[in-house]
Amino acid sequence: MTSPRKRILTGIRPTGALHLGHYAGALENWVRLQKEYECFFLIADYQVSDYADDIDRVRDSVWEVALDWLAVGLDPEGSHYVIESMVPQHAELMVHLSWFIPLGRLQRNPTLKAEMADLDIGKKGTPVGFFIYPVMQVANILMPRANLVPVGEDQLPHIEMTREIARKFNRDFGDVFPEPEPLVGRVPRLVGVDGQAKMSKSLDNAIYLKDDAETVRRKVMGMYTDPTRLRATDPGHVEGNPVFMYHDAFNPDTAEVDDLKERYVRGAVGDVEVKKKLVVAINNLLEPIRERRAHVEARPQLVREALAAGSRAGYAAAEATIIAVRNALRLDYLERGMPEVRR
Ligand code: ATP
Ligand code: MG
Repeated sequence: MTSPRKRILTGIRPTGALHLGHYAGALENWVRLQKEYECFFLIADYQVSDYADDIDRVRDSVWEVALDWLAVGLDPEGSHYVIESMVPQHAELMVHLSWFIPLGRLQRNPTLKAEMADLDIGKKGTPVGFFIYPVMQVANILMPRANLVPVGEDQLPHIEMTREIARKFNRDFGDVFPEPEPLVGRVPRLVGVDGQAKMSKSLDNAIYLKDDAETVRRKVMGMYTDPTRLRATDPGHVEGNPVFMYHDAFNPDTAEVDDLKERYVRGAVGDVEVKKKLVVAINNLLEPIRERRAHVEARPQLVREALAAGSRAGYAAAEATIIAVRNALRLDYLERGMPEVRR
């Protein structure tokens, strides 16, 4: 008998369509690893407390995410597209795991701290559900007993916490969970078109995988570059320049990129030419993705079936884990029967 494939768990929040940051930070790895691993791709619709006043957007985005996944080539036959809330065992496991996570452990989590600060600046304040989303993520990863978690760099603190909890649980209650490894993508954290630290759905600084060629052109031509450079003849900076970061990430013609960089620092090429070449590179990358998206968009039944079958598979894996957890915690009251009455 062949041994079962090792497992991947990874996911995305249904808060909008997917962008180039998702692609270079995460999706590329998922596509590459989907044959080697049994993959559970999660649409994390429990983790949208900052969108609680816009559930319509969440509902639409579940479909957007599934369309983008199909468009980039994640095969729903070999992998599982799981809607988190269709597997309510996630909520149960989160409750059990929360017993073992000190409050201070969450308060110190750097990703959570930064995201909560953004919410506070936006005057929304932090819902309790947001504060505990990293615990939900621990439950997500441990649920299918995943071995590998391919994500962008911002997720690393949550995976470190997952490893700690797995170790503690196994030590105290018996071997239930593998200790999962993180895997960060080719571009750990893609900057936004506005030069901000992270391209993000929530910051409105993204190039979406579904953007048409003209939208890509407009966004790239308006991109933030080297603020110290006023004329094309001024020597420019390549380091830390978002336009060149994107060339490095998405232009496969390295000779062209090297030539542009060399001329840029000499003051021998204008921003317009550098950006025009970037438009071509990104549109070349996105064109086949757009074509596949159009193909599946015309076939909603395909998308629906991917979500239904994937969520059923997620449910089956979750039920097995939850039983193991209840047994390990000795919460299987009826099976154990009444103890001798203590006096
Ligand atoms: P939101 O702004 O709603 O939180 P997001 O754009 O941060 O959305 P998530 O659903 O939180 O997207 O993240 C999904 C995955 O994509 C995670 O693994 C995350 O690390 C990765 N990712 C998101 N944005 C980037 C980026 N700019 N660069 C690299 N990886 C990214
Ligand atoms: Mg995020």
